[in-house]
Amino acid sequence: MKMKHKGILIVVSGFSGAGKGTLMKQLVHTYDNYALSVSMTTRSPRPGEEEGKEYFFVSKEAFEEKIAQEGLIEYASYCDNYYGTPRDYVERQLEKGKDVILEIEIQGALKVRKKFPTALLMFVMPPGAAELKKRLEGRGTESLEIIRKRLMRAKEEAEGIEQYDFIVINDKLEECVDKMHSLIQAAHFTPNRNEEFINNMRKELEELI
Ligand code: ADP
Ligand code: 5GP
Repeated sequence: MKMKHKGILIVVSGFSGAGKGTLMKQLVHTYDNYALSVSMTTRSPRPGEEEGKEYFFVSKEAFEEKIAQEGLIEYASYCDNYYGTPRDYVERQLEKGKDVILEIEIQGALKVRKKFPTALLMFVMPPGAAELKKRLEGRGTESLEIIRKRLMRAKEEAEGIEQYDFIVINDKLEECVDKMHSLIQAAHFTPNRNEEFINNMRKELEELI
């Protein structure tokens, strides 16, 4: 009897500017067996962002139609825009045995946990608040007003961190990527993610005696 490793759903949240996008790109580039879900959003693309790569950029009407069709696993509103996870891709990749990463904010993360109790929830933190502001400003993609909104939102999100399984500190990028990969690998071996193997073992024992 082989221990079958089904894909697990990994939810990655963290303050805007903590480095989630950068970390996830590096993780899927360095290690096999990850699939990165591409969300749908009503926000405008940043310079350099491509349709279907960072996001599917849609109108509010198109987003609401997707909600009505039950085409999203979860969705939430964040700083005046909608963001949501398309269902089809996630389900297909999990079936293939891939570990699927959702880079989503906290309201969405908690919805995913309800629907998928074995999802692994990770929260990315910067080494400090001043560094967070520096990264947001350094990215150079938002106005000062939007940066302020995002920092206020970070303060709210910080209240929910204890609901996550792990926090990871993104100080040195490569170290953080390796740490996340190790934690995910370990998560494959918890009993609640191996119910089929455990139940088969029980059945075999029963048959044996
Ligand atoms: P998020 O997706 O969490 O909003 P990004 O991945 O866009 O954050 O990163 C925000 C900014 O911080 C980017 O300019 C990125 O290059 C930078 N950054 C990410 N990780 C690190 C790190 N470990 N050290 C220094 N800068 C980083
Ligand atoms: P950004 O505009 O910086 O790309 O993303 C803003 C926030 O929305 C981030 O916290 C990001 O993780 C989150 N987000 C991105 N996609 C989704 C999604 O599909 N669902 C939810 N709930 N949040 C998302």
